[in-house]
Amino acid sequence: MSRFYNLKVSKVEQDTDDALTIAVEIPDHLREEFKFKQGQYINLKKTIDGKDEIRSYSIVNAPGENQNHIEVLVKIIPEGKLSPVLQQDLKAGDMIEVMPPIGSFYANLHPTNDRTYIGLAAGSGISPVLCNIKEILIQEPQSRVYLFFGNKTKDKILKKNEIYRLEKEYGSRFRVTYIVSREKSDNPVFEGRITAEKLNELFDLFGDIPISETTYFICGPTDMIQSIADFLHLEKKVPAIQILHEYYTAPDDDDDPEKSDEFKALPNINSMVTVILDDDEYTFELNSKEEVIVDKCNNEGIPAPYSCHGGVCRTCMAQVLDGEVFMEKNFALNEEQVEQGFILTCQAHPTTHNVTLTFDV
Ligand SMILES: Cc1cc2nc3c(=O)[nH]c(=O)nc-3n(C[C@H](O)[C@H](O)[C@H](O)COP(=O)(O)OP(=O)(O)OC[C@H]3O[C@@H](n4cnc5c(N)ncnc54)[C@H](O)[C@@H]3O)c2cc1C
Repeated sequence: MSRFYNLKVSKVEQDTDDALTIAVEIPDHLREEFKFKQGQYINLKKTIDGKDEIRSYSIVNAPGENQNHIEVLVKIIPEGKLSPVLQQDLKAGDMIEVMPPIGSFYANLHPTNDRTYIGLAAGSGISPVLCNIKEILIQEPQSRVYLFFGNKTKDKILKKNEIYRLEKEYGSRFRVTYIVSREKSDNPVFEGRITAEKLNELFDLFGDIPISETTYFICGPTDMIQSIADFLHLEKKVPAIQILHEYYTAPDDDDDPEKSDEFKALPNINSMVTVILDDDEYTFELNSKEEVIVDKCNNEGIPAPYSCHGGVCRTCMAQVLDGEVFMEKNFALNEEQVEQGFILTCQAHPTTHNVTLTFDV
């Protein structure tokens, strides 16, 4: 689970001037390990200035396409650590460290389903949305999908050629609407950002969308995800289970969780933490008010997996087998998973004298 594999880069291609398509080849002996569900992501690792930089990237190709590679789309953040290095240095034929796919941004599909799905994506948020859309179109011949896709300008539309190809292939089962925020369009409905108000206008425009029975896939800036999800659930009465979203970054949070009343109320104790990772067992002492469990692991030389450090991805996920922990933030696990003892170790502090947890989940 925590393992990285050195895989061959089979493609590096500029999608737009600020986004890169990268494909890695999956050799036959790793097929099972790298089997994935639509909407999942991989972690890429590169050592930059002596430090391992690990970032998550959503898979663009769908499992139903049966390809022997995994493709991701990387938006270049000029001030970022990893993405500009990928753009400058990476070329086809290079090797790169890749962690097998994880994530739960998908719906269960069935060939007899006759459903409506809507993908709401902005910028690089298109990757997991498009992956879900392709899988639905392949697996559910009677279902239909709408894509509402926001970009700054028309020439910044990511994966445009592939979306166009899918429109041609699937006809009326796949309807695409582009919304641009920094350009005029022939209809004001197609201008601006994807907001609750915009979505309402789009519902009016299409008229025949069964709003509360539709399943929604949302990926984009955190404020977009939160406002659309709230609007659908609270105002349009869409059941929460039909509103799926994927965060790339943590929602802005003015409250410092370390200073929250909940955190202050934690007992100040030293805990013996036992960690199971790849069938090995490690034990260390950790104070409840000090660093989070995954940082302590890494400082102790235990190769526990992590990526976002913001409670957004689930790379550092573990399951508590004994004892209790406090999580500062959690944007990745649902209530059921938390009840089952799953935690994000990048957010977790031990709160009982003994804690045992396993990363082998
Ligand atoms: C589950 C998951 C899936 C992801 N999938 C993708 C993907 O398919 N494609 C992709 O390009 N990125 C994706 N990301 C974001 C990616 O992991 C990195 O955070 C991003 O590439 C920036 O890394 P960096 O090292 O260049 O910048 P960093 O040095 O890590 O960060 C620089 C700044 O960029 C911000 N940032 C991160 N992502 C974005 C973004 N998309 N747009 C604007 N600002 C951003 C960070 O919050 C930070 O403030 C995903 C993240 C998660 C948690």
